[in-house]
Amino acid sequence: MRPPILDPLFRPVTSLAGIGPKLGVTLRRLVGRPDADSDPRIIELLFHLPVSVIDRSRRPGIAEAPEGAVVTLKVRVDRHQTAPRGNRRVPHRVYCHDETGEIALTFFHANEAWLGRTLPVGETRYVSGQMEWFNGRASMIHPDYIVSEAELDDLPLIEPVYPMTAGLARKTLLRAIDSALAGIPDLPEWLEPALSDERDWSNFETALDIAHNPQSAGDLEPVSPSRTRLAYDELLAGQLALALIRAHQRRSAGRPRHGDDRIRPRILADLPFSLTDSQRSALADIDGDLEAPERMLRLLQGDVGSGKTIVALLAAAAVIESGAQAAIMAPTELLVRQHARTIAPLADAAGLSMGVLTGRERGRDRETVIAGLGDGSIDLLIGTHALFQAGVDFHDLGLAVVDEQHRFGVHQRLALTAKGGDTDILVMTATPIPRTLVLTFYGDMDVSRLTEKPAGRRPIETRAMPLTRLDEVVARIRSSAASGAKAYWVCPLIEESEALDVAAAEDRHAALTAELGDRVGLIHGRMKAAERDAAMAGFVAGDTSILVATTVVEVGVDVSDATIMVIEHAERFGLAQLHQLRGRVGRGDKPSVCLLLYKPPLGSIARDRLKIMRESEDGFVIAEEDLRLRGGGEVLGTRQSGMPGFRIADPAYHADLMEIARNDARTIVDTDPGLASPRGQALRLLLYIFGRDEAVRLLRAG
Ligand code: ADP
Ligand code: MG
Repeated sequence: MRPPILDPLFRPVTSLAGIGPKLGVTLRRLVGRPDADSDPRIIELLFHLPVSVIDRSRRPGIAEAPEGAVVTLKVRVDRHQTAPRGNRRVPHRVYCHDETGEIALTFFHANEAWLGRTLPVGETRYVSGQMEWFNGRASMIHPDYIVSEAELDDLPLIEPVYPMTAGLARKTLLRAIDSALAGIPDLPEWLEPALSDERDWSNFETALDIAHNPQSAGDLEPVSPSRTRLAYDELLAGQLALALIRAHQRRSAGRPRHGDDRIRPRILADLPFSLTDSQRSALADIDGDLEAPERMLRLLQGDVGSGKTIVALLAAAAVIESGAQAAIMAPTELLVRQHARTIAPLADAAGLSMGVLTGRERGRDRETVIAGLGDGSIDLLIGTHALFQAGVDFHDLGLAVVDEQHRFGVHQRLALTAKGGDTDILVMTATPIPRTLVLTFYGDMDVSRLTEKPAGRRPIETRAMPLTRLDEVVARIRSSAASGAKAYWVCPLIEESEALDVAAAEDRHAALTAELGDRVGLIHGRMKAAERDAAMAGFVAGDTSILVATTVVEVGVDVSDATIMVIEHAERFGLAQLHQLRGRVGRGDKPSVCLLLYKPPLGSIARDRLKIMRESEDGFVIAEEDLRLRGGGEVLGTRQSGMPGFRIADPAYHADLMEIARNDARTIVDTDPGLASPRGQALRLLLYIFGRDEAVRLLRAG
């Protein structure tokens, strides 16, 4: 149960004065979790931090106030010039003056009565807003603030600016945040005093207060003491949760698993290639984990095409040799089918029985697979993540391999790893996450990296071209296709709208079909699974030689003889995505090209990105550069900046804190694993505040 001291932070925002049910829904959109189905809590509102400030501290005379500047003027009201009746286009003007000059305060669609009350003739008022000069006349259209001398305290000279949403007035939000701040309880300190002192950090409550009431733009900098403190709190909560889960996992001991080489050598013998050195060393890591009595929790990082699947299969083989079952899970239907295609012949040759389970297996097929898992007659299951979570019952699941982890939410991962039993877990990601981020997202996981591409791969020639040269590109594809080449054509990503993505792909498909005839296929996320499979199969078989796609092809599709990748509006993609997409080609023994079509003019970051793409094919290098350019958001496949699951911490600024938080968390778990000491109790509060309380539940379970 959540400690009662936190109750004021966990009430719904609708408990604040002035926030009714309707605003509750509006705020859910603004500050709630994407999947929220209830009003956000006050703590979520408090983590909605300003992104900039409006500085109203400039107080010139009217005559000296520069065009366009936000200023606060002290004026005397002279006269009102009301709008002529029936003509709504002419504004209501209120003429005022100070000792330097005259200004017209201008109001469209004015409420005359309100204006009369707010700006009484003959009185002094402070008005704040943006100056406009036209033909030597000063005006201010709809001042942001109009206050009397007595109300001057209500005029914020430094005003925080928050990300907003439709249907929410700025003043309503400011008031709600104010009263939320006033309700923060006095909390015990959970940080080491030495760290706070060294960094000049105030306590959590004060840091939040400063974050919302900045005294200057500097207070909003990610490196300001208040923001840094909050970022550290967030990182520590994350690291502590992961460390506790890890410790729990260690305690809920695994089982040593010894392979007997019944199966693995037969798979190896059947492979048309030999393993790369890094595949070998990853397997050695995994074997070590399997044989140890603790549960395995290992991350296998490997660039696109580095050959993770075979490592997963060989790991599964060892577990199956030891008498247990294994499951390989992928995030999409498409990938599951692809894994199944790759693995089936190898499994056959090695005498493994394999089952496939996705949302598409229904009725008898599904029952047969589920029965086989239950009685142990199926050794290896290939399926989607969803099914594993829905709790398909295995006879004895020894190993769960989770592929393409970056599609997976942090919460789901916690749920998966906190699941009971002694199942070893291998997580595979095609995203070359920089080391600093591995810490943040995977905490204390062991890591193996596949750093080399399988032998025989040719480098990919990458070129950036303006969209104005589209004709050339089409001509080139036409002649390549005529000589048997296969090309992907990836269509632009349009904000967050899948429907628009699809429309763009359909348009491009139609245009290319008009040019190139029926050798052009189409695949996108709105198609039925069967249609998608058919489109894919047509491309694999060579019935089509150009496949127009939305980013559904991003995730691990393997058509080894595709040699051309065209990415339209490449400037709209993040580096990580570009890299993933490019990895779809260059998989066979023929030279490949990647054409990045961009719309000029390019912004400086977009230009840097395309340059990096031209210069490097090394996913780890690209990931580090991406982190440098954008702060890491895209590294994990999200489009917004920042890190998924994190509201304040930003790897571009707080990388040093991650390391400290990780060490801090380890020390805590070593010295006070039950979080029982006074600091431990305070840390429990921290876990709740940042929504990491899954970990607290593990404490109780022991
Ligand atoms: P990813 O790491 O992207 O999941 P895959 O496991 O799909 O990569 O492997 C990509 C391709 O490389 C597959 O066709 C696979 O058969 C092949 N492959 C894997 N390991 C090797 C190797 N050591 N030598 C040559 N080809 C390999
Ligand atoms: Mg893969």
